[in-house]
Amino acid sequence: MKINFLGLVMAMLMSSVIAFGQTKDRWQQAIKYEMEIDMDVETHRFDGEQKVVYTNNSPDQLNKVFYHLYFNAFQPNSMMDVRSRTIKDPDRRVGDRISKLSDDEIGYQKIKSLKQNGKAVDFEVVGTILEVDLNKPINSGESVTFEMEFEGQVPEQIRRSGRNNAEGISYSMAQWYPKMSEYDYQGWHSNPYIGREFHGVWGDFDVKITIDEDYVLGGTGYIQNPEEVGHGYQKEGTEGGKGKKGKLTWHFKAPQVIDFMWAADPDYKHVKAQVPNGPELHFLYQENDKTKENWEKLPEYTVKAFEYMNKTFGKYPYDQYSVIQGGDGGMEYPMSTLITGERSLGSLVGVTVHEMFHSWYQGVLASNESLYEWMDEGFTSFGAAETMNVIMEQGQENPQSGNYRGYLALAESGYEEPLSTHADHYVTNYAYGRAAYSKGATFLGQLRYIMGEDVFYPAMRTYFNEWKFKHPNPNDFIRVMEKASGLELDWYKEYWVNSTKQIDYGIKSVLESNGKTFVTLEKVGEMPMPLEVSITYNDGNSEMIYIPLRIMRGEKSFDSNVKTLADWPWVFPTYTFELDQPASNIKSMVIDKNEGMADVDRENNIFNAEKHLEPTFNK
Ligand SMILES: [Zn+2]
Repeated sequence: MKINFLGLVMAMLMSSVIAFGQTKDRWQQAIKYEMEIDMDVETHRFDGEQKVVYTNNSPDQLNKVFYHLYFNAFQPNSMMDVRSRTIKDPDRRVGDRISKLSDDEIGYQKIKSLKQNGKAVDFEVVGTILEVDLNKPINSGESVTFEMEFEGQVPEQIRRSGRNNAEGISYSMAQWYPKMSEYDYQGWHSNPYIGREFHGVWGDFDVKITIDEDYVLGGTGYIQNPEEVGHGYQKEGTEGGKGKKGKLTWHFKAPQVIDFMWAADPDYKHVKAQVPNGPELHFLYQENDKTKENWEKLPEYTVKAFEYMNKTFGKYPYDQYSVIQGGDGGMEYPMSTLITGERSLGSLVGVTVHEMFHSWYQGVLASNESLYEWMDEGFTSFGAAETMNVIMEQGQENPQSGNYRGYLALAESGYEEPLSTHADHYVTNYAYGRAAYSKGATFLGQLRYIMGEDVFYPAMRTYFNEWKFKHPNPNDFIRVMEKASGLELDWYKEYWVNSTKQIDYGIKSVLESNGKTFVTLEKVGEMPMPLEVSITYNDGNSEMIYIPLRIMRGEKSFDSNVKTLADWPWVFPTYTFELDQPASNIKSMVIDKNEGMADVDRENNIFNAEKHLEPTFNK
């Protein structure tokens, strides 16, 4: 075939002008925020100015835009308040606390004015969402400027953000500014703030925060005026300058992130550490009897964790990460986390590693967490368990066993709902938590079992590199895994994500005939899986039998000696295979000895010669 050279060059040029993250059917909106905040630490109120340049990369014309006003959730009778008081198993941190907030303690974001390209525009505040009726539609490919003046009041710390948290941190400033809702190939995502999970537009943030000079700040962005603000950001050996009239303006920039968090406290101690070939780490915490010892050790573990995570799951793309005491547990933000700090060393390292891991799945891949909470919390829990096992030298054979147990308890509880449930719409907090964290982590644990470790980890890195900054969905993920493994895996995703069907395989019978053994396995649960059966013989030898699923259209490869049998077509309730030895030679036989599957009943996985000899053979 003759190659048309000019055509090839043209095609290459065309593809290179398509901006970062854009393909014909998967575009990303773009946003640039410039914000200036003046904080009053007496009233806990702030004045804000926001200028946004919003680019519509979608193929659609937009007649409306939406902003999130998250602080409005912290008002009596808000959707968050009502939900927290009426859900069967309330979150202890929220309960009925919102309903008791006084006017000075609530949170709010009041919009004083809004302009589209210099002209005032109509808007309406509906709970935690600002609905904006545009003067002029935004055409595909067009950029518009929105200018807003707003006023905020920081609520008493109830959930994630707020003032004066339980450990005495002055300001945990998450979800603090009017944030443009995401519009993507699935439409608008103007979800009211009820409880959990976020989504956002990729953007560049330029934020100036003016606050009393005593306060130390940290958060999402890179500090732009370190010599001016000091407090440990200045060059070593120099002293940070002083602001005017007792106030300092902190200037941060954060490129290509979905959100911007900051925290402030006059008593923060600020410590730095460097990850070799990785980001600079910042630690901000109040030093006292409950924190001193463990926070001094935290940087060393955090560096180790970053190195392991970069190597195993893909490279963290920013030059900075900050671990900040604040909030109400642990919560992830781009380039940073807010965690409570008065913890044992194991708990402190554990929460830090978990929140850092979100940088991969919430921060950089940024799947829509409301729709696919398990792709964030589950993948994070999986990676954190592997990392903790290594850096804390836990020596666990299967670091995922805790996650599997969490899922198995859910499967038994009667409260399970499919993973495809929107994060806010689970009937119970319990079902959400176990689904998103444990069942989500188990999704990856089982996939590693199906694909094999040697294929799984490189595929996880490919997923990270191919989909970073593009909001992948479950199908995008499973397609990467299919291409890497050569297996069809759609069935696995559909069963595990869209249904609550369970895995249960058993050994039905072991029969002897003419010196041979016929083993019959049974698919008791509804969800099919490929099987690995380990057999130990009385002479001390052992072997492993592998039975692929026919719908995988392929097999896992093993480096050790494994006998691969014919595929099991999933509709067949049983599967019989033959061993070239009498049954009396078999000492034991186990389906899934390494517990790669979350099999809901493991008792029927085991055949034990002494226990089963009579009844099984005579059957
Ligand atoms: Zn998490």
